[in-house]
Amino acid sequence: MIHLEDTITAMATPNGVGAISIIRISGNKAIDVADSIFKGKMHITDANTHTVHYGKVVDAQNNFIDDVLLTIFKAPNSYTGEDVIEVSCHGNPLIGQKIIDLLLEKDVRIAEPGEFTKRAFLNGKLDLAQAEAIIDLIRSKTEASFLSARSMLEGRFSKKANEIKEILTGLLMRLEAELDFSEDFSEAEGLSKEKFSEGIEKAGDAVKKLISTYDGGRVLKEGVKVIILGRPNAGKSSLLNILLKEERAIVTPVPGTTRDTIEEVVSIKGIPVRLMDTAGLRDTEDVVESIGVDRARKRAAEAGLIIFVADCSQRDFSEDLRMLNSINDRSVNKPGKKIIVVANKTDLVKNGNLEEIGKIFSGYPLVFVSALKEEGIPALEEKIHEEATGYYSGFFEADQGELVTSERHRDALVRALEGMDRLKSTAEQGMPAEFIAADLRWSLNRLGEITGEVTTEDILERIFSEFCIGK
Ligand code: GDP
Repeated sequence: MIHLEDTITAMATPNGVGAISIIRISGNKAIDVADSIFKGKMHITDANTHTVHYGKVVDAQNNFIDDVLLTIFKAPNSYTGEDVIEVSCHGNPLIGQKIIDLLLEKDVRIAEPGEFTKRAFLNGKLDLAQAEAIIDLIRSKTEASFLSARSMLEGRFSKKANEIKEILTGLLMRLEAELDFSEDFSEAEGLSKEKFSEGIEKAGDAVKKLISTYDGGRVLKEGVKVIILGRPNAGKSSLLNILLKEERAIVTPVPGTTRDTIEEVVSIKGIPVRLMDTAGLRDTEDVVESIGVDRARKRAAEAGLIIFVADCSQRDFSEDLRMLNSINDRSVNKPGKKIIVVANKTDLVKNGNLEEIGKIFSGYPLVFVSALKEEGIPALEEKIHEEATGYYSGFFEADQGELVTSERHRDALVRALEGMDRLKSTAEQGMPAEFIAADLRWSLNRLGEITGEVTTEDILERIFSEFCIGK
């Protein structure tokens, strides 16, 4: 249980050396407590909100700790909705800790992870979906995930959820009003069965539409799954390393040493891409190797995009074509599944021969690269971006406020829809109107969980424990 009457403090900046560190204090004693360790031109207890004050932090014995800038935000116009003080000191964790220690002597306690944001939620400064958007925003690594978090923080997703709730609330209110007059819904005047089903249908369609964006929304947040496949030694690990721009996979001239799969998210032209490398996809006697191969095939089935690497310097491509066919058969018959063929090691091949290779792989999008010389990589990135956005074209263009990116939100929507389906059959069976109203309230509560109108300590705990201390 959170005690809003406590005054809390924590470092708001990462624990390291920098230009400045910021200590946050929030609660009804924040200003008094800050004043008691601060020496400036005036007492900050007399200062206006949203003002900055230069001065010194001193301890009880009047020892000088640091020069600081102190910013005052008076309730309710602050991040938490309470009185908030931000102390900017020199960027050394030791100094920050000294200031926090002084505060802890004064009836202030250390904040729990996410407690500042939790207070902001409890004080009505933002709703729960917006609080979650803050975590997404802090963690976003690509332009696309940044934009979706930004729009959720602006409240566009909450607005959508609230619009659906309004339809249901309207129906519930009318249903309840009618109930006062008549026990039986079918006898209720004013709210015809048709009008009622129409409303439920409309709300249900809006919920379904939101749920259908989840696959796309999740990709936006977590990345399009891209798998790198090809014969051993084709250059998969070398290519992965270039795309990752770091030595992540072991590059080795021995076939099949990349035995397990490696996964890493990179931003390719603003789109998060989950790159997976696997053991060479081939039939083999080697047990350890074949575990890797099996996984590779399974993963190919999960991937949104397959990069198939072929070694241009070889003479015979029949094995590559056989493998390409096999992944085609196994996983690519899903609509939208894409394969890009990367003809690698162009540095070992005469230009004339590249044309021949082009013919061999005709029918597949083909990019020539030399992983060794790092040639052709921008063209490959362009192709990955093109195919990935093509695959998910619907939602990359979609209004980002209408994307469901969180599993928690999707679950709430699915359950709300279940309630609406139940309600329809309750109505069809001619059950008493109270039963219908109960189902309606149940669905409304599930939608209320998204924005946190309906919540439990458990849900809050789960969400805010993901935050860092100081946020
Ligand atoms: P993997 O088994 O498909 O992951 O292949 P690796 O990335 O381990 O590469 C196998 C070998 O081919 C290594 O010796 C690489 O240095 C070499 N190699 C990879 N890409 C190129 C390239 O573009 N040109 C040349 N000449 N050698 C390459």
